[in-house]
Amino acid sequence: MGLEDAFLKFDEIDLRFPTQLVIETTAACNLRCIMCPHKSMSRRKGNMDLRLYMKIVKEVAAIAPNCEVWVTFMGEALLLKNTIFGMIQYAKEVGLKRVVLNSNATYLNNAAIEGLIESGLDRFLVSLDAVSKKTYNLIRPGGNFEASVRGTEEILRRVISEKHLRPTVTVQMSVMDENEHEQEEFKRYWSERGAIVKFRPKCSWAGSIEAQNLSTDQTQRPPCRWAMETAAIHYNGDVVTCVVDYEGFYKAGNIWQRSLQDIWLTELKMLRSLQYNKNFGELPDFCAHCLDWQTASPIVIPSGRQVMMPRN
Ligand code: SF4
Repeated sequence: MGLEDAFLKFDEIDLRFPTQLVIETTAACNLRCIMCPHKSMSRRKGNMDLRLYMKIVKEVAAIAPNCEVWVTFMGEALLLKNTIFGMIQYAKEVGLKRVVLNSNATYLNNAAIEGLIESGLDRFLVSLDAVSKKTYNLIRPGGNFEASVRGTEEILRRVISEKHLRPTVTVQMSVMDENEHEQEEFKRYWSERGAIVKFRPKCSWAGSIEAQNLSTDQTQRPPCRWAMETAAIHYNGDVVTCVVDYEGFYKAGNIWQRSLQDIWLTELKMLRSLQYNKNFGELPDFCAHCLDWQTASPIVIPSGRQVMMPRN
């Protein structure tokens, strides 16, 4: 197949809009987890302007209401207190069908649980990464093991016993040397409490964090799913390469000035066509050498007590 044919074929299968969108409602975080580059992130750490957030979710609702929208990226959204519940509620009111929040659960008290349930959130994921306090403290410095577990158990209890269908509750572990010995116990403990359990390989954040679990053999490298299907927006409106571009190594455009679909179908499409045609050497340097395409497919263990959504 010639280059022109390859591009034509790519045009036929290319998505008109991402199926998954990550919005950084805040870039602030209260923890310093060992597998996360947030602690060394050099860009400013602000909160998203509500007018910008509304512009984004209105566009998604008008074009692709089934797009899965994560209202968090490089930050802990529960730090926003009631504001994040209002943001989720707004997204639901304008018609988004799949609104997702990931949290470290250190602030998951009863008021936050109530706020999440009342907001209409569809999926809630808790990153715990350990089942013992010792391993948790090693991986999540600054965290509060007891509070996080207590909050997660309570939201599970409420969602299941009060027969709320939403949000589904997933507990996840980023698997690494420090916690892999707890994987089975983590699955048993949280499955018994009705959680959906998710394991994801440790990510290198485009080479910023050591991740020896990722193979350095790039000979069989496929187009990266993060690039092909997802988009990510920093709190200041910058649309970046993908969900691991925490720093903004490549800025495709800014939502204050342009629509997401415009950026998706121009600058980001150029990156997708390079991925699709396996011209990896022409990608921005950090993406050309990135191994995180291997982390795009997690293992998910369903719950017998919750109704799952696609992509749980
Ligand atoms: S290869 Fe890495 S940097 Fe490039 S799109 Fe995929 S995850 Fe992002």
